[in-house]
Amino acid sequence: MNLEKAGGRLCSGKRASLPAARPFPVIQKVMASMAHLQKEKLQLQEELLGLQEKLAAQENDELSLSLQLQGQVETLKAKVLEQAQEIGRLRSELGGTDAEKHRDLLAAENERLRQEMKACEGELRELRRQQQQQAPCRDCHHLQENAGLQEQLSQLQQEAEETRAKLVELDLEVQQKTNRLAEVELRLKDSLAERAEEEERLSRRLRDSQETIASLKSQPQQIKYIIKTVEVESAKAKQALCETQSRNQYLQEQVGMQRQVLKEMEQQLQSSQKTEAQLRAQIVMYEAELERAHGQMLEEMQAMEEEKNRAIEEAFSRAQVEMKAVHENLAGVRTNLLTLQPALRTLTHDYNSLKRQVRDFPLLLQETLRSARAEISQAIEEVHSTNRELLRKYRRELQLRKKCHNELVRLKGNIRVFGRVRPITKEDGEGPEAANAVTFDTDDDAVLHLLHKGKQVSFELDKVFPPQASQEEVFQEVQALVTSCIDGYNVCIFAYGQTGAGKTYTMEGTAANPGINQRALQLLFSEVRGKAADWDYTITVSAAEIYNESLRDLLGKEPQEKLEIKLCPDGSGQLYVPGLTEFRVQSVEDINKVFDFGHVKRVTECTNLNEHSSRSHALLIITVRGLDRSTGLRTTGKLNLVDLAGSERVGRSGAEGSRLREAQHINKSLSALGDVIYALRSRQGHVPFRNSKLTYLLQDSLSGDSKTLMMVQVSPAEKNTSETLCSLKFAERVRSVELGPVSRKAELASWPSQEQLEGDSPGSAATPGRGHASHSPGQLSSRSASIRRKLHTSGKLRSVPL
Ligand code: ADP
Ligand code: MG
Repeated sequence: MNLEKAGGRLCSGKRASLPAARPFPVIQKVMASMAHLQKEKLQLQEELLGLQEKLAAQENDELSLSLQLQGQVETLKAKVLEQAQEIGRLRSELGGTDAEKHRDLLAAENERLRQEMKACEGELRELRRQQQQQAPCRDCHHLQENAGLQEQLSQLQQEAEETRAKLVELDLEVQQKTNRLAEVELRLKDSLAERAEEEERLSRRLRDSQETIASLKSQPQQIKYIIKTVEVESAKAKQALCETQSRNQYLQEQVGMQRQVLKEMEQQLQSSQKTEAQLRAQIVMYEAELERAHGQMLEEMQAMEEEKNRAIEEAFSRAQVEMKAVHENLAGVRTNLLTLQPALRTLTHDYNSLKRQVRDFPLLLQETLRSARAEISQAIEEVHSTNRELLRKYRRELQLRKKCHNELVRLKGNIRVFGRVRPITKEDGEGPEAANAVTFDTDDDAVLHLLHKGKQVSFELDKVFPPQASQEEVFQEVQALVTSCIDGYNVCIFAYGQTGAGKTYTMEGTAANPGINQRALQLLFSEVRGKAADWDYTITVSAAEIYNESLRDLLGKEPQEKLEIKLCPDGSGQLYVPGLTEFRVQSVEDINKVFDFGHVKRVTECTNLNEHSSRSHALLIITVRGLDRSTGLRTTGKLNLVDLAGSERVGRSGAEGSRLREAQHINKSLSALGDVIYALRSRQGHVPFRNSKLTYLLQDSLSGDSKTLMMVQVSPAEKNTSETLCSLKFAERVRSVELGPVSRKAELASWPSQEQLEGDSPGSAATPGRGHASHSPGQLSSRSASIRRKLHTSGKLRSVPL
């Protein structure tokens, strides 16, 4: 309207000035240009109007668009709010509320179960305590019940453990779901923020556009003003026109710019629409996702709820059943308790009395111990005294035994004489010379008969061994002597006889059939072993040889060295041989070694009677030293086993020179042995031990309560009868020393020499005053008397001259 008014006025102004300018071409030109300008102005005005209309329309459009957009934003905001509310609701419905509620429920259930379990345990403890108090019913059914309950309890605990594990799993799941929900929320928040940003941006643009529109609206006023100025001030019209044109230009540019802006806005609107569509799609997608997650979660929660309910129900029912059982057990225990109460009372009573006893026990114990100690010491004292008494008695008994033994030996004779007849051997040859000249009494094993020069001579010894007697049998008779050596007695066993009569066989024997030497040592070993519990024994062995009256050590390093017999320097009067080797023997192997060693060194010479005949006395001296561990008693016994040199007469052996000297030494020593035995048996004050090395060496073993055995070896061969006779005479004489001391003294004043023995002959036997026939019968031993009676009646008695 303003534009129209301005136009109207402009037109009226033109009409008033035109007639005055017509006469001038410049004016006309100006006028024409003005008209043209006017036209243009009109056109411009029209255009401007069109533009204004368009702008207004655009403005309207934009307004409506912005209104529309605002509406849309509002609805979107409302939707977002709604969705946020929905999310909040969902969250409270899903994540937060139910799962937590579920978890809380489970935790509460768990707590309740724990409480129940604790109560059960308490009850169980109580039951156990009661059971412990009821010691007497240890093996009753409560124990079994208790074991069952314990088992049930452990099962329950296991189940509770399982439930706990399940709970933890559920917790984990709920946690996962909550996390996922938080993620969804986060994403939703992000998209909302994006939308808010987009909205902000759009609203800013809108504001900018409105401002631009407002500025554009304010501009036409200026144009109007310019036109007016052109109308009013025509002088300035041209300039104004120019300005207007430039202004118009500018406006056109502005319009172009606005169009551009509009275009951009349209584009932005489009993009925002697109974004909105995208956001909507996203929202729809999120909603669908949320819906799905919600559904899934609901399902899972449902399943979990069901499972939990089932587990709880099962646990509850089991717990109920178990509780019922426990209650029943408890009831049983209570009834038992009631029945046990009297027993408990008596037990308490007993316990109290026991307590009292226990309190009094130390005193009682001390008292008892004191009395027991006193009793024990008294008993020990008694035992000691009994032991002392026993020891005294034992020693007395030992003495007595020794005495008895001595008495027995004395009765039997300290010197015993055995005869041994060897069998006829190949060496005896054949023919009448090898005929048997010795016969035996079938009724009396102490008598033998010798057929000498057609006459039978009988001899009585302590024992006679016929040719068939074995080494074993001979040893049987000797072993008592051997064992007495362990008791501390000195023993001498001599083998006497002519060379070849079997002395060495009896003493040493053969490897297959050993003689007295080896058997004696073996017996000693076994005896010593038998007494090893109480006694410690050592057995030593020495081997010596007396040849031509000189003593040599057969086990020494220098066998040729002559040893001397000396008195012990301790003043005991005992003899010893300095330098005589002693070997300790413990086994048969040791003995064999010693014997082998001795044999090598033995000096043997051949004679024409027997090439193995020995011309020296061989001595095996076994010393047994014992210690009684209980009494400290020490014993020393010596067993002298002597293989004497051949007793044959020198004339018969045909020896000369050194042989003769050997024979003389032998005869001398054998006579000296006879003298010593005689002196001992007849208990003479002086015993001529020093007359020979042999008797001097054996002095200890021949005197005192020593025992002597003379084994007289004889050959049964006809050709040896002379020597056999001599040997038997020697034997009988040795034995006859036992006869009564008075007559013995009278009769046996002297011991015949070997030569005398040799000179004896059966023909000269009946010398008056000699022989047993001259003794009073009371002085003879009954056995001797009987034999002699026998011999007298047979007319064969020969008194043997001494
Ligand atoms: P001596 O030692 O007295 O000289 P020996 O013991 O050497 O005599 O005996 C001479 C021989 O007679 C030896 O061959 C021996 O084996 C044998 N002899 C001795 N006595 C017996 C016997 N009782 N049984 C068997 N053979 C014997
Ligand atoms: Mg010999």
